[in-house]
Amino acid sequence: MEYALTANHLMKKYGRSNALDNFSMQVPKGAIYGFVGKNGAGKTTLIRLACGLQSPTSGTFTLYGVKNTQKGIRKARRRMGAVVEAPSIYLDLSAADNLKQQYHVLGLPSFDGIPELLKLTGLNDTGKKKAKDFSLGMRQRLGIAIALAGRPDLLILDEPANGLDPQGIIEIRELILRLNREQQITVLISSHILDELSRLATHYGFIDKGHMVKEMTAKELKAACRKCTRLTVTATAILVRTLDRMGLEYEVISDTQTDIYGEFPLTELTLALAKEHCSILSLHEHDESLENYYINLVGGDKYE
Ligand code: ATP
Repeated sequence: MEYALTANHLMKKYGRSNALDNFSMQVPKGAIYGFVGKNGAGKTTLIRLACGLQSPTSGTFTLYGVKNTQKGIRKARRRMGAVVEAPSIYLDLSAADNLKQQYHVLGLPSFDGIPELLKLTGLNDTGKKKAKDFSLGMRQRLGIAIALAGRPDLLILDEPANGLDPQGIIEIRELILRLNREQQITVLISSHILDELSRLATHYGFIDKGHMVKEMTAKELKAACRKCTRLTVTATAILVRTLDRMGLEYEVISDTQTDIYGEFPLTELTLALAKEHCSILSLHEHDESLENYYINLVGGDKYE
């Protein structure tokens, strides 16, 4: 597996507190990586380090295989675009003029790419309108357009849905999906709202108190959150044989517990088990919603 970004035992101290504490992560190339954590968990700190806005206290990170301590890191960083905290835009300039400014900063030879960037981000009809008269969603999209000016392979967005209305959230989501699918851009999105990320993320990293609690794929998260019936029986081997015979989907959890997915004929199963002297000791619905899963992982209130 190739990675756009990895963090390896990163520490970032502010005074005596650790904003990042032995933090490790792996963002696969091509992923939409949902970086989830409560306010103050350390998401922005990681992003600031990756962008070179601050240095780690110890530990390392890599961008496209180049370590932050290596000479090539500046070049590797050119493969990255980011919108950190509020998008940095000139409010008195139009969208096109904001992009021209960014092209100057990057030393790009012509403005040829600007119409395409405006179209991509849905800002092609804004004409001379100044950014200060844009909606929050338009400003956020302009921030993304600016981050895309250098044609990055990795786009980092810090809480891109913050403060947006539902329509603005949908537009940002569709833009991110388009960038990922049509332009193969790897996207790292930080958020404290798992539900919003679950509509687009292919991978997740859950951070709490500066520490990576768990990384997983969207498929793994979905499986972990599926509705199932948890059965405790006296003979799991008999249960497994019976479930196979009935063509049911299941997962053995322990010596006595098995999760059965989807609807199943309970009477038929109970009778089949009884024939082989296997008793059901308990049965209950097990529903791990996304939100519960997240709260169980990081503990406490997610909006803390
Ligand atoms: P949010 O969603 O609120 O932005 P976050 O997950 O991005 O949260 P960070 O901004 O990375 O969290 O902050 C992590 C911790 O480090 C917090 O406790 C914060 O107060 C602290 N912190 C961040 N920047 C500084 C700084 N410049 N000086 C001192 N402490 C800081």
